[in-house]
Amino acid sequence: AAKSQGRGNFQFFSSTMNRATHERLLMESRLSQALEKQEFELYLQPQVAMSTGRIIGAEALLRWHHPELGMISPDRFIPIAEESGLILPLGDWVLRRGAQLLVRWREQGLGHLRLAINLSARQCRGTSLLPLLDKLLADNGIAPSQLELEITESAAMQDPESSSILLHELRVRGIKVAIDDFGTGYSSLSYLKLFKLDRLKIDRSFVKDIETDPNDAVIVSATIALAHSLGLEVTAEGVETEAQRAFLCGKGCETAQGYLFAKPVPLAQFEDMVTGVTV
Ligand code: C2E
Ligand code: MG
Ligand code: MG
Ligand code: MG
Repeated sequence: AAKSQGRGNFQFFSSTMNRATHERLLMESRLSQALEKQEFELYLQPQVAMSTGRIIGAEALLRWHHPELGMISPDRFIPIAEESGLILPLGDWVLRRGAQLLVRWREQGLGHLRLAINLSARQCRGTSLLPLLDKLLADNGIAPSQLELEITESAAMQDPESSSILLHELRVRGIKVAIDDFGTGYSSLSYLKLFKLDRLKIDRSFVKDIETDPNDAVIVSATIALAHSLGLEVTAEGVETEAQRAFLCGKGCETAQGYLFAKPVPLAQFEDMVTGVTV
Protein backbone atom coordinates (compact mmCIF):
# COMPACT_ATOMS: atom_id res chain seq x y z
CA ALA A 1 0.00 0.00 0.00
CA ALA A 2 2.85 2.32 0.94
CA LYS A 3 4.48 1.62 -2.34
CA SER A 4 1.42 2.33 -4.44
CA GLN A 5 0.71 5.46 -2.39
CA GLY A 6 4.28 6.55 -2.98
CA ARG A 7 3.87 5.99 -6.64
CA GLY A 8 0.62 7.89 -6.58
CA ASN A 9 2.33 10.83 -4.89
CA PHE A 10 5.08 10.73 -7.40
CA GLN A 11 2.57 10.83 -10.22
CA PHE A 12 0.78 13.72 -8.59
CA PHE A 13 3.98 15.76 -8.26
CA SER A 14 5.15 14.85 -11.69
CA SER A 15 1.88 15.88 -13.29
CA THR A 16 1.82 19.24 -11.46
CA MET A 17 5.37 19.80 -12.55
CA ASN A 18 4.45 18.97 -16.10
CA ARG A 19 1.60 21.37 -15.86
CA ALA A 20 3.82 24.21 -14.63
CA THR A 21 6.40 23.43 -17.28
CA HIS A 22 3.71 23.21 -19.90
CA GLU A 23 2.26 26.57 -18.92
CA ARG A 24 5.65 28.15 -18.97
CA LEU A 25 6.45 26.76 -22.40
CA LEU A 26 3.08 27.98 -23.61
CA MET A 27 3.79 31.48 -22.27
CA GLU A 28 7.21 31.38 -23.84
CA SER A 29 5.84 30.52 -27.25
CA ARG A 30 3.12 33.18 -26.97
CA LEU A 31 5.76 35.66 -25.91
CA SER A 32 8.01 34.82 -28.82
CA GLN A 33 5.20 35.62 -31.25
CA ALA A 34 4.02 38.71 -29.43
CA LEU A 35 6.63 41.07 -30.88
CA GLU A 36 5.77 40.09 -34.45
CA LYS A 37 2.07 40.35 -33.69
CA GLN A 38 2.63 43.83 -32.22
CA GLU A 39 1.01 42.97 -28.92
CA PHE A 40 3.32 45.17 -26.84
CA GLU A 41 2.75 48.76 -25.85
CA LEU A 42 4.69 51.22 -23.75
CA TYR A 43 2.65 52.81 -21.01
CA LEU A 44 4.01 55.97 -19.45
CA GLN A 45 3.97 56.92 -15.81
CA PRO A 46 4.58 60.61 -15.14
CA GLN A 47 7.55 61.59 -13.02
CA VAL A 48 6.76 64.71 -11.06
CA ALA A 49 9.04 67.38 -9.60
CA MET A 50 8.33 67.52 -5.87
CA SER A 51 8.86 71.26 -5.58
CA THR A 52 6.50 72.32 -8.38
CA GLY A 53 4.24 69.31 -8.94
CA ARG A 54 5.02 69.51 -12.66
CA ILE A 55 5.59 66.54 -14.95
CA ILE A 56 9.26 66.44 -15.91
CA GLY A 57 9.25 63.11 -17.71
CA ALA A 58 8.00 59.56 -17.66
CA GLU A 59 9.01 56.00 -16.99
CA ALA A 60 8.23 53.63 -19.84
CA LEU A 61 6.47 50.51 -18.56
CA LEU A 62 5.91 47.60 -20.87
CA ARG A 63 2.41 46.19 -21.38
CA TRP A 64 1.46 42.99 -23.19
CA HIS A 65 -2.02 42.77 -24.65
CA HIS A 66 -2.71 39.13 -25.43
CA PRO A 67 -5.79 38.64 -27.65
CA GLU A 68 -7.25 35.93 -25.38
CA LEU A 69 -5.55 36.42 -22.03
CA GLY A 70 -5.98 40.19 -21.96
CA MET A 71 -3.38 42.42 -20.38
CA ILE A 72 -0.47 40.50 -18.85
CA SER A 73 1.61 42.20 -16.18
CA PRO A 74 5.36 42.64 -16.71
CA ASP A 75 5.93 40.91 -13.37
CA ARG A 76 4.60 37.76 -15.07
CA PHE A 77 6.28 37.94 -18.46
CA ILE A 78 9.58 39.76 -17.87
CA PRO A 79 11.04 36.87 -15.83
CA ILE A 80 10.08 34.41 -18.61
CA ALA A 81 11.51 36.72 -21.25
CA GLU A 82 14.66 37.08 -19.18
CA GLU A 83 15.16 33.34 -18.74
CA SER A 84 14.41 32.44 -22.34
CA GLY A 85 16.55 35.21 -23.81
CA LEU A 86 13.53 36.85 -25.46
CA ILE A 87 14.27 39.90 -23.34
CA LEU A 88 17.00 40.83 -25.82
CA PRO A 89 14.77 41.47 -28.85
CA LEU A 90 12.06 42.76 -26.52
CA GLY A 91 14.45 45.14 -24.79
CA ASP A 92 15.65 46.38 -28.18
CA TRP A 93 12.04 47.02 -29.15
CA VAL A 94 11.51 49.07 -25.97
CA LEU A 95 14.59 51.19 -26.72
CA ARG A 96 13.54 51.76 -30.36
CA ARG A 97 10.04 52.71 -29.33
CA GLY A 98 11.47 54.96 -26.62
CA ALA A 99 13.61 56.77 -29.21
CA GLN A 100 10.50 57.29 -31.36
CA LEU A 101 8.72 58.85 -28.39
CA LEU A 102 11.57 61.28 -27.74
CA VAL A 103 11.54 62.36 -31.41
CA ARG A 104 7.77 62.75 -31.30
CA TRP A 105 7.92 64.88 -28.17
CA ARG A 106 10.59 67.12 -29.62
CA GLU A 107 8.40 67.68 -32.69
CA GLN A 108 5.45 68.53 -30.43
CA GLY A 109 7.44 71.07 -28.44
CA LEU A 110 7.75 68.65 -25.53
CA GLY A 111 11.50 68.29 -25.88
CA HIS A 112 12.01 69.04 -22.20
CA LEU A 113 10.56 65.67 -21.20
CA ARG A 114 12.90 62.94 -20.07
CA LEU A 115 12.21 59.26 -20.68
CA ALA A 116 13.28 56.53 -18.27
CA ILE A 117 13.61 52.98 -19.61
CA ASN A 118 14.14 49.78 -17.62
CA LEU A 119 17.03 47.50 -18.50
CA SER A 120 17.15 43.82 -17.66
CA ALA A 121 20.13 41.92 -16.31
CA ARG A 122 20.69 40.11 -19.59
CA GLN A 123 20.64 43.34 -21.59
CA CYS A 124 23.31 44.71 -19.28
CA ARG A 125 25.53 41.68 -19.77
CA GLY A 126 25.11 41.57 -23.56
CA THR A 127 27.28 43.40 -26.07
CA SER A 128 24.57 44.89 -28.26
CA LEU A 129 23.19 47.53 -25.90
CA LEU A 130 25.78 50.27 -26.40
CA PRO A 131 25.94 50.00 -30.21
CA LEU A 132 22.14 50.13 -30.38
CA LEU A 133 21.97 53.16 -28.09
CA ASP A 134 24.65 54.96 -30.09
CA LYS A 135 22.75 54.30 -33.29
CA LEU A 136 19.38 55.38 -31.90
CA LEU A 137 20.77 58.60 -30.44
CA ALA A 138 22.72 59.50 -33.59
CA ASP A 139 20.03 58.56 -36.14
CA ASN A 140 17.37 60.50 -34.29
CA GLY A 141 19.41 63.43 -33.04
CA ILE A 142 18.40 62.71 -29.46
CA ALA A 143 20.19 64.50 -26.63
CA PRO A 144 21.59 61.67 -24.49
CA SER A 145 20.58 63.45 -21.29
CA GLN A 146 16.91 63.04 -22.26
CA LEU A 147 17.29 59.33 -21.82
CA GLU A 148 17.58 57.69 -18.42
CA LEU A 149 18.23 53.97 -18.03
CA GLU A 150 17.06 52.16 -14.91
CA ILE A 151 18.84 49.11 -13.66
CA THR A 152 17.75 47.26 -10.55
CA GLU A 153 20.17 46.83 -7.73
CA SER A 154 19.92 43.04 -8.02
CA ALA A 155 20.49 43.04 -11.80
CA ALA A 156 23.54 45.27 -11.41
CA MET A 157 24.93 43.04 -8.69
CA GLN A 158 24.71 39.84 -10.77
CA ASP A 159 27.99 40.89 -12.32
CA PRO A 160 29.24 44.00 -10.51
CA GLU A 161 32.36 44.46 -12.59
CA SER A 162 30.74 44.37 -16.00
CA SER A 163 27.87 46.52 -14.67
CA SER A 164 30.32 49.11 -13.47
CA ILE A 165 31.92 49.24 -16.94
CA LEU A 166 28.53 49.52 -18.63
CA LEU A 167 27.34 52.28 -16.30
CA HIS A 168 30.55 54.14 -16.91
CA GLU A 169 30.09 53.85 -20.70
CA LEU A 170 26.52 55.14 -20.40
CA ARG A 171 27.56 58.14 -18.36
CA VAL A 172 30.45 58.94 -20.71
CA ARG A 173 27.79 59.34 -23.38
CA GLY A 174 25.72 61.62 -21.16
CA ILE A 175 22.93 59.08 -20.74
CA LYS A 176 21.47 59.22 -17.23
CA VAL A 177 21.63 56.16 -15.02
CA ALA A 178 19.28 55.32 -12.16
CA ILE A 179 19.43 52.46 -9.71
CA ASP A 180 15.92 50.98 -9.44
CA ASP A 181 14.18 49.33 -6.48
CA PHE A 182 16.88 50.63 -4.17
CA GLY A 183 17.08 48.81 -0.87
CA THR A 184 15.48 45.54 -1.99
CA GLY A 185 18.56 43.75 -3.31
CA TYR A 186 20.15 42.55 -0.07
CA SER A 187 23.40 44.00 -1.33
CA SER A 188 26.01 45.99 0.55
CA LEU A 189 26.16 49.72 0.02
CA SER A 190 29.72 49.50 -1.27
CA TYR A 191 28.49 49.24 -4.86
CA LEU A 192 27.39 52.86 -4.68
CA LYS A 193 31.06 53.71 -4.77
CA LEU A 194 31.79 51.31 -7.64
CA PHE A 195 28.90 52.41 -9.87
CA LYS A 196 28.63 55.79 -11.53
CA LEU A 197 25.02 56.82 -11.02
CA ASP A 198 22.80 59.88 -11.39
CA ARG A 199 19.75 58.79 -9.49
CA LEU A 200 18.53 56.47 -6.83
CA LYS A 201 14.93 55.26 -6.89
CA ILE A 202 13.54 54.37 -3.49
CA ASP A 203 11.46 51.23 -3.72
CA ARG A 204 7.73 51.42 -3.17
CA SER A 205 7.93 48.93 -0.29
CA PHE A 206 9.68 51.56 1.87
CA VAL A 207 7.38 54.41 0.83
CA LYS A 208 4.22 52.43 1.51
CA ASP A 209 4.38 52.55 5.33
CA ILE A 210 6.26 55.83 5.80
CA GLU A 211 3.38 57.23 7.86
CA THR A 212 2.85 54.23 10.10
CA ASP A 213 6.20 52.48 10.43
CA PRO A 214 8.87 54.61 12.14
CA ASN A 215 11.57 52.26 10.79
CA ASP A 216 10.53 52.87 7.22
CA ALA A 217 10.46 56.62 7.84
CA VAL A 218 14.02 56.46 9.19
CA ILE A 219 15.22 54.26 6.33
CA VAL A 220 13.74 56.59 3.74
CA SER A 221 15.16 59.78 5.24
CA ALA A 222 18.56 58.16 5.71
CA THR A 223 18.50 56.92 2.10
CA ILE A 224 17.72 60.40 0.80
CA ALA A 225 20.54 61.89 2.89
CA LEU A 226 22.95 59.18 1.72
CA ALA A 227 22.03 59.74 -1.94
CA HIS A 228 22.46 63.49 -1.64
CA SER A 229 25.83 63.19 0.05
CA LEU A 230 26.94 61.00 -2.87
CA GLY A 231 25.69 63.62 -5.32
CA LEU A 232 22.70 61.59 -6.51
CA GLU A 233 19.15 62.75 -7.03
CA VAL A 234 16.30 60.76 -5.54
CA THR A 235 13.02 59.55 -7.01
CA ALA A 236 10.43 58.01 -4.73
CA GLU A 237 8.36 55.20 -6.24
CA GLY A 238 4.80 54.31 -5.37
CA VAL A 239 3.71 57.59 -3.78
CA GLU A 240 0.01 57.11 -3.15
CA THR A 241 -0.94 59.60 -0.43
CA GLU A 242 -0.55 63.30 0.25
CA ALA A 243 1.11 62.49 3.59
CA GLN A 244 3.77 60.40 1.83
CA ARG A 245 4.35 63.22 -0.66
CA ALA A 246 4.70 65.80 2.10
CA PHE A 247 7.12 63.61 4.06
CA LEU A 248 9.33 62.96 1.02
CA CYS A 249 9.22 66.60 -0.07
CA GLY A 250 10.26 67.64 3.42
CA LYS A 251 13.27 65.36 3.22
CA GLY A 252 14.39 66.93 -0.05
CA CYS A 253 13.43 64.10 -2.41
CA GLU A 254 13.55 65.66 -5.89
CA THR A 255 11.04 63.65 -7.91
CA ALA A 256 8.25 61.16 -7.43
CA GLN A 257 6.07 58.68 -9.22
CA GLY A 258 2.91 57.10 -7.95
CA TYR A 259 -0.84 56.77 -8.11
CA LEU A 260 -1.20 60.05 -6.19
CA PHE A 261 -0.06 61.79 -9.38
CA ALA A 262 -0.94 59.25 -12.06
CA LYS A 263 -0.93 55.58 -12.92
CA PRO A 264 0.97 54.38 -15.98
CA VAL A 265 -1.17 55.39 -18.99
CA PRO A 266 -1.13 55.01 -22.79
CA LEU A 267 0.84 57.58 -24.79
CA ALA A 268 -2.09 59.80 -25.83
CA GLN A 269 -3.30 60.11 -22.27
CA PHE A 270 0.17 60.96 -21.03
CA GLU A 271 0.53 63.70 -23.63
CA ASP A 272 -2.86 65.11 -22.65
CA MET A 273 -1.69 65.29 -19.05
CA VAL A 274 1.49 67.10 -20.01
CA THR A 275 -0.24 69.63 -22.22
CA GLY A 276 -2.89 70.24 -19.60
CA VAL A 277 -5.88 68.80 -21.44
CA THR A 278 -8.25 67.45 -18.82
CA VAL A 279 -8.92 63.76 -19.16
P1 C2E B 1 9.64 49.16 -11.74
O1 C2E B 1 10.60 49.56 -12.82
O2 C2E B 1 10.10 49.32 -10.34
O3 C2E B 1 8.32 49.99 -12.03
C1 C2E B 1 7.47 50.47 -11.04
C2 C2E B 1 6.24 49.61 -10.89
O4 C2E B 1 5.43 50.13 -9.84
C3 C2E B 1 5.34 49.60 -12.12
O5 C2E B 1 4.73 48.31 -12.20
C4 C2E B 1 4.29 50.66 -11.77
O6 C2E B 1 3.08 50.49 -12.47
C5 C2E B 1 4.12 50.41 -10.30
N1 C2E B 1 3.64 51.60 -9.59
C6 C2E B 1 3.92 52.89 -9.85
N2 C2E B 1 3.33 53.71 -8.96
C7 C2E B 1 2.64 52.93 -8.10
C8 C2E B 1 1.82 53.20 -6.94
O7 C2E B 1 1.61 54.33 -6.53
N3 C2E B 1 1.30 52.11 -6.30
C9 C2E B 1 1.51 50.83 -6.71
N4 C2E B 1 0.94 49.84 -6.04
N5 C2E B 1 2.28 50.55 -7.82
C10 C2E B 1 2.84 51.58 -8.49
P2 C2E B 1 4.60 47.52 -13.56
O8 C2E B 1 4.30 48.48 -14.68
O9 C2E B 1 3.68 46.38 -13.32
O10 C2E B 1 6.08 46.99 -13.80
C11 C2E B 1 6.64 46.06 -12.91
C12 C2E B 1 8.09 45.87 -13.18
O11 C2E B 1 8.31 45.23 -14.45
C13 C2E B 1 8.91 47.15 -13.24
O12 C2E B 1 9.21 47.61 -11.94
C14 C2E B 1 10.13 46.69 -14.00
O13 C2E B 1 11.05 46.07 -13.14
C15 C2E B 1 9.56 45.66 -14.95
N6 C2E B 1 9.42 46.27 -16.28
C16 C2E B 1 8.41 47.01 -16.80
N7 C2E B 1 8.68 47.40 -18.06
C17 C2E B 1 9.90 46.90 -18.35
C18 C2E B 1 10.76 46.95 -19.51
O14 C2E B 1 10.47 47.59 -20.54
N8 C2E B 1 11.96 46.27 -19.44
C19 C2E B 1 12.34 45.58 -18.31
N9 C2E B 1 13.53 44.95 -18.32
N10 C2E B 1 11.56 45.53 -17.22
C20 C2E B 1 10.37 46.17 -17.22
MG1 MG C 1 11.80 51.09 -13.13
MG1 MG D 1 11.23 50.23 -9.13
MG1 MG E 1 10.02 46.87 -9.50
